[in-house]
Amino acid sequence: MKNKHISKEMYACLKRYWGYEQFRPWQEDAILAILDERETLTILPTGGGKSLCFQLPAMLKDGMAVVISPLISLMKDQVDGLKDMGISAECLNSSQGPAQQSSVIGRIRNQEVKLLYISPERLLTQETIELLRSTDLSFFVIDEAHCISHWGHDFRDEYRHLGAIKDNFPGINIHAFTATATKEVQADILTQLRFDSPQLNIASVDRPNLAYRVMPRSNIISQITGVLEKHPKEAGIIYCLRRSDVDDISGRLNKLGFKNLPYHAGLSDVERHLNQDQFIREEVNIIVATVAFGMGIDRKDIRFVIHAAMPKSIEHYHQETGRAGRDGLPSYCYMFYGGGDFGVWNFFSKQSANRDVMLNKLRIMYNFCTQPQCRHKVFVNYFGQEYGQSTCQACDYCLGEVDMVDDPVGVGQKILNCIDSVKCGDDRSFGAGYVANVLKGNPTSQIARWGHQGNPNFAAMSSETLASIRYSIEQLIGQGYLSRQGEYDTLFLTDQGKRLLNGEITPILAKPLVAARKKEISIRQKARKAQDWAGGFGYGFGNRKPNHGPVANRKPNHGPLACVDEKLFELLREKRAELARKQGVPAYIIFGDRSLKDMASVKPTTSEAFFGVFGVGEHKLKIYAKPFIDVIKQYSKKLPSAISPFLKKY
Ligand code: ADP
Repeated sequence: MKNKHISKEMYACLKRYWGYEQFRPWQEDAILAILDERETLTILPTGGGKSLCFQLPAMLKDGMAVVISPLISLMKDQVDGLKDMGISAECLNSSQGPAQQSSVIGRIRNQEVKLLYISPERLLTQETIELLRSTDLSFFVIDEAHCISHWGHDFRDEYRHLGAIKDNFPGINIHAFTATATKEVQADILTQLRFDSPQLNIASVDRPNLAYRVMPRSNIISQITGVLEKHPKEAGIIYCLRRSDVDDISGRLNKLGFKNLPYHAGLSDVERHLNQDQFIREEVNIIVATVAFGMGIDRKDIRFVIHAAMPKSIEHYHQETGRAGRDGLPSYCYMFYGGGDFGVWNFFSKQSANRDVMLNKLRIMYNFCTQPQCRHKVFVNYFGQEYGQSTCQACDYCLGEVDMVDDPVGVGQKILNCIDSVKCGDDRSFGAGYVANVLKGNPTSQIARWGHQGNPNFAAMSSETLASIRYSIEQLIGQGYLSRQGEYDTLFLTDQGKRLLNGEITPILAKPLVAARKKEISIRQKARKAQDWAGGFGYGFGNRKPNHGPVANRKPNHGPLACVDEKLFELLREKRAELARKQGVPAYIIFGDRSLKDMASVKPTTSEAFFGVFGVGEHKLKIYAKPFIDVIKQYSKKLPSAISPFLKKY
């Protein structure tokens, strides 16, 4: 009975402030545990909705919740977002002037604040401890809790002292949140924060609303522009390996009319911040960046992420692509990798104390690129979870965009035989380019010098293109049948390669795509995208708890997004941008794309109908119903046929 009552209150609060009707997977579990006075560690993927897990119980409990967050730059946006929902939130940090700080302190003393955002270093000053002790606290939240761990990729020294919360505030619960799921990080968080029998809420790492496509790099600019043409007016990040690549690609895209800004550590602080800010504030939609770009980007409508080179690990790829589609809407990740990327990362890894670990991660990453398989499944399995579906319908492999070699064992054996037969002794071998020429039967001067025209494997694959032979060799390397060694990256058979020669195992080999097939796939991708937006893959997050069992089937959701009026959507976006500019906040704080799409589909013209729009809570209803309804009415007046069949019916 008690639980039923709490559940009712939770749903009422969800609609009242956030304007949402349903919780996402794990949110209810996390919230109930907090309300039940159990300490929690909650791991949800980026975009999984972590903030709501602590913001909602903060509203239901007496006192003020204190949120420790590592990025001062994000605090203001988060607090502005909460205020825009009618929640009294504040932050305390060094970017505020003395007058502003004392006004916040006054409000805390008067018990007028429900959520306080603060940096870890500020929290543990004597002054703050005394301030917080003088008021009623509900609980502490450690956001981005992986920063506490040396094993995490963003370790922060200041986070190391957070164990002291228990000494200074005995009896007040702590709740930790992160998107980083590795076991070492989890264990470290629990020990460092001195948790006592916490509840663990660990979601699947799968991001069903992301579609992954991984392709070998050829002409990178035309590959990138091909993607950009599929995403006009949409926001995206293009990740490059080096700063010089950023400058080059950014410059060339700008010349071609794809307006973008660069971002890397070589730019001045001012320029970097300026570029990041323009992206967050939607003044520019495309950013070309090194991996330095990302932490602190809270923009929810990033629709695509392009990797112009291979990232150095699956963790990095997952994190970087994870910045797309935080609003839960279909979003797209494209990677263009090259064999050379492995070499570059390998070179960087030489400076690392952890070289063996890095190299192993790099090999797994290269395998991910070169082995055609369901991309979602690889991610989920990599993080030690089970993927219960046979097809995701949201990656190049499952969507049939990869053409497989008919006789992979035969092709693999021809290549391995050739490598074995051209080598002299145990340590003199040849590189991929040379081997490909022997197999193609190209009588190059080098081949003549080594007398390999007479080799039995010379021209053994003469009917294939040189590019196709090279592609198969790269895949055999990536899948562990061959290893590249020494200064000249020469090729050697591994034990697994020997098993392939004996016919014991089968490699998974794809063919390179010819131009006509590429064109056909590109047309299919466009059609697929339209279908996704009409309620296809991964729309919303469904009801899945994969670590409690296999992932449930993707259910197509033919919701109202199926009839979005794109012209009206554009007008609503303009209105949103205008209001955001006036208020000095990022546009997503006012409404996410999903809310605007909902409006552009249902076309509400009364306050009552507007309250039914996704993401409209009581406060937003009060301040935004009029300006957005006005846009809808004006549009419908000009175009009477635009009135939704949905509304005509009711
Ligand atoms: P995370 O911190 O896990 O990356 P956020 O807390 O930023 O994710 O949430 C991502 C987006 O999802 C936000 O726009 C948030 O308002 C939205 N969201 C959270 N919970 C829900 C829900 N139950 N229904 C719909 N949208 C939600």
